[in-house]
Amino acid sequence: MVSAGTVLGGTGGIWRVLLESGDVVESSLRGRLKKQEELGATPRLSLGNAARAPEAMLKLAVGDVVQVTPDPSGTAWAISAIEPRRSKLARRAPGRAGGERVVVANLDQVLVVFAAANPDPHPRMLDRFLVIAEANELAARIVVNKCDLIAEDKARHTFADFERAGYPVHYTSVVEERGLEALRGAVRGKVSALSGPSGVGKSSLMNALFPGLDLRVGEISESVNKGRHTTVGALLHPLPGGGFVADTPGLREVGLWGISVREVAACFPELRPYLGTCRFADCTHLVEPGCAVREAVESGAVSRARWESYGKLREELSNSAMAGR
Ligand code: GDP
Ligand code: ZN
Repeated sequence: MVSAGTVLGGTGGIWRVLLESGDVVESSLRGRLKKQEELGATPRLSLGNAARAPEAMLKLAVGDVVQVTPDPSGTAWAISAIEPRRSKLARRAPGRAGGERVVVANLDQVLVVFAAANPDPHPRMLDRFLVIAEANELAARIVVNKCDLIAEDKARHTFADFERAGYPVHYTSVVEERGLEALRGAVRGKVSALSGPSGVGKSSLMNALFPGLDLRVGEISESVNKGRHTTVGALLHPLPGGGFVADTPGLREVGLWGISVREVAACFPELRPYLGTCRFADCTHLVEPGCAVREAVESGAVSRARWESYGKLREELSNSAMAGR
């Protein structure tokens, strides 16, 4: 008998799969799928972002919806099919064609958590997280926690550019139980990945929203991760009332790798209406005359800070492209 399930996590080829019955079973990939994975064969699946990564390899990931079959012995389960993905958060490896590692499959949204204070928010770091979400074609939601520490209008001022760009922003406080109901509603029934710097209250928020969930959240610290190419895998936590939260190695870990210089402008949603309307078709939107983006910045229609952030990220990407990375 075949059952459908969702992959919650896995180590050493053994995957934990949540079945529709509510049971969690340990499964391994059935021979044929395993072979495809080892060979890096082109999948017959139509992946969500196929246009950008047609050569994507078939690799099972947390969040994948699978079919599992019990062995005749009845003690072990085998994953016999992987359903097509509707989205993914993937780390595109530099250089190697087709090098891509899916961190989480079938995500509905990314939640980027910052603190209103302690630690102070870093809007340019948030820009970076959002670009990574956009490059993965994922919806993003911003959570500004610890709103008890400063006046809320001050926090709203800091994040006004993001609201203007169209991102939903939640102002929360775990201490004062502020904004929690709305945030709970925003994650219910969806698959969300949680990201943001450490110490902003990600674990506290999740535990306040869903007591007893006991999340192991947090970005892998940069120092721990230095020079390492493998990562701690993501884990998917089923939420009471439906949906999942993935505590991922973090968007920072996914990084800007593989995002092309040309696509970075489109990763700023408020720039999109102007793209393609500049005098020069290959406009970088940094220095050219007749640039519609720069005109929008001058007129105040587009945030100057966000545009400067765009310039920095673009420069970073073109430097790494020139270095052949
Ligand atoms: P994480 O690293 O993002 O998971 O952050 P934690 O959940 O571990 O929280 C870091 C620290 O911030 C802890 O000492 C929490 O008690 C504290 N904290 C979490 N949420 C809030 C909040 O809304 N207000 C205040 N003042 N402190 C908070
Ligand atoms: Zn331009």
